[in-house]
Amino acid sequence: MERKLVSVQCVDHLEPIAGADNILKARVMGWDVVVKKGEFTPGDPCVFFEIDSVLPSGAPWAEFLRPRGFRVKTARLRGVLSQGLALPVSILSGEVPPRGTDVREQLGVVKFEPVLPDTREIAGPFPGQVPKTDELRLQSALGVLDELRGLDFYVTTKLDGTSATFFRPLEGELVACSRNWALRRGPNPVWRMAERYALDTVLPPGFAVQGELCGPGIQKNRLGLSDLDLFVFSVHDTRTGVYLDQTALAAFCAERGLRTVPVEHVVTGDAARTFDHGLEHYLKLAQGFYTGTRNRKEGIVVRPLVERHSPTLGGRLSFKVINNDFLLKDED
Ligand code: ATP
Ligand code: MN
Ligand code: MN
Repeated sequence: MERKLVSVQCVDHLEPIAGADNILKARVMGWDVVVKKGEFTPGDPCVFFEIDSVLPSGAPWAEFLRPRGFRVKTARLRGVLSQGLALPVSILSGEVPPRGTDVREQLGVVKFEPVLPDTREIAGPFPGQVPKTDELRLQSALGVLDELRGLDFYVTTKLDGTSATFFRPLEGELVACSRNWALRRGPNPVWRMAERYALDTVLPPGFAVQGELCGPGIQKNRLGLSDLDLFVFSVHDTRTGVYLDQTALAAFCAERGLRTVPVEHVVTGDAARTFDHGLEHYLKLAQGFYTGTRNRKEGIVVRPLVERHSPTLGGRLSFKVINNDFLLKDED
């Protein structure tokens, strides 16, 4: 499911901020967001912009962001974490749409995209048989916690590299992709991984592996690797349309000499039944450093051990929790 970058939501709660006269701390979905005093009372609708919304330059309601640039980022105001942006629904023309309505297009907001591949590297569109890699932010989909409750699950480290997908069609040659595009065979890092791991022969026809490509020259190489490597987080069987469960994924990768993303916790049985599935607990689990480094990790990704459909997400049950320390200090 595409996350809704900009939607109509409800201001569930408001509280004062010590020492601040003009701003309040508000709660929208699972997000804490600082708002202007007087703009909302609890229960009011708002237009909520998630982190990485890029507001249009030229719209009067977006002008106040000009000095900082039009991208919505995590901020700390008077010691209070603010994630996203809540504006009054009066910025919309016409009647107030119901809660959950996606108003991104109508407001001319686009999503911040850190890297666009060089057009000369693009071979074609991302293959339609394979789901693109993405994870929803827990704070935007708190309902997933009820869906996970009681299930055996696992937590992996969210690596801060770049997404790569390798698909071996039933017939024809391997397709190697960046986040959104199939890439031309060449000296790019994605194809280097395909060659190093001989993915054109080790992948069974019909299968796709998806992983995070990390190493020198990619993002900030926070793992401190001396060479590129691929860390697999999903294996998809396009013939059946299902993802392999965690144990099958681990075996699949081990047999082929592929690495997986680091598994931080596997929670089963009694421990799973009594686990604290609160937002605060997950935010704590998301903190910390990449093993063996002094670099803050980006966060964690949480999934049930056995793949499961999520009614909340309209897709597989899987979500990310971003490390707030990373968002404040390390994100560029
Ligand atoms: P955003 O959508 O927030 O702008 P993004 O789509 O680039 O950012 P995120 O949504 O933050 O990335 O996170 C999803 C991505 O995280 C996946 O596409 C994948 O490339 C990457 N990733 C890194 N580590 C993992 C992991 N352990 N499990 C799953 N995905 C991971
Ligand atoms: Mn995403
Ligand atoms: Mn990323």
